[in-house]
Amino acid sequence: MKNLRDHILAAKQVLVLAHYNPDGDAVGASLAIFHYIMALGKEAVVMMPNEVPGNLRWMPGAESILVYQRNTDLGNQIIAQADLIICADFQSLSRIDSMEKPITESKAFKILIDHHIEPNREQFDYVVSTTDISSTCELVFQTIKNIGDQKLLTRDAASCIYAGIATDTGSFSFSCNRRETFDTVADLIDMGIDPNFIHRAIFDTFSEDRLRLLGLCLSERMKVMPEYSTAYIHLTKEDLLKYNYQSGDTEGVVNFALSMKDVLFAAFFTETERRIRISFRSKGAIDTNVFARDHFNGGGHKNASGGSSFDSLSETLQKFEELLPEFSRGFKS
Ligand code: 5GP
Ligand code: MN
Repeated sequence: MKNLRDHILAAKQVLVLAHYNPDGDAVGASLAIFHYIMALGKEAVVMMPNEVPGNLRWMPGAESILVYQRNTDLGNQIIAQADLIICADFQSLSRIDSMEKPITESKAFKILIDHHIEPNREQFDYVVSTTDISSTCELVFQTIKNIGDQKLLTRDAASCIYAGIATDTGSFSFSCNRRETFDTVADLIDMGIDPNFIHRAIFDTFSEDRLRLLGLCLSERMKVMPEYSTAYIHLTKEDLLKYNYQSGDTEGVVNFALSMKDVLFAAFFTETERRIRISFRSKGAIDTNVFARDHFNGGGHKNASGGSSFDSLSETLQKFEELLPEFSRGFKS
């Protein structure tokens, strides 16, 4: 673990990255690393492929995040200068969208810190990865603690770490069966964080459009298929336009489909300019990661994964429905 600090101390230009459509864990982990690097007396640039959702912009340091999609020339310049790149909360460079090519071509030393299954080890020089943890944020905390640098973590860093743990566990409702997660939170409380403020900032700051779009999802766009213990929701490009869609607005929609009593498998399809983005969720032993990987160019975790389709929306939904008889046969075991 000490290597990690040595690499940071030796680097001239550090770049910290998170994945496309950054969520609370991605933003929290990359900013926590950013604060740690500053506490070591160094500087770093934090870059994301696209916009940080509005409800995550309160995080200390978020104002300095460089959005590659909007500042591509400057982004390329910084990538070219970086000699250390730290990648947080994704397991493969395919998850950073248009940054994939320049980052792959970069000769910088690349460190991965992540909690997804099957990290693409060939793409990185140093990998800190386990799936047996709530979030990348918790892993960042444990890693810095193992280095012996917990005292360098500021209240700002602690707030970012808490945000990632809270969002990746659905406010402590899944992926948090280990006591270490709660020990970590207890440490963060000791560091002065304000969980009430953080929960309000993340979960009680939605726009009216976002809530009405959720209403549309549940009343008009959800199909329940009891024969396959499955429910899925789709949104068209026009739906997103009508409700003035902002990045992050559909976060968590798929979980509503899964919250029905007899639904074991849920999916959510969003039509974007270039592809259909898909989220999968399941209960119990059902492995959505394999499903996403085998059929929809994706992956993730057993109970939460995602993918993409490059067919039309209707073709994608048809393909999904055609896969259900076979896939749902495995639900009973
Ligand atoms: P979400 O549905 O929230 O976008 O993603 C759920 C989980 O699946 C997250 O842990 C995310 O990292 C992972 N995931 C989402 N999309 C992809 C994808 O296209 N490829 C892979 N390998 N994982 C994904
Ligand atoms: Mn995560």
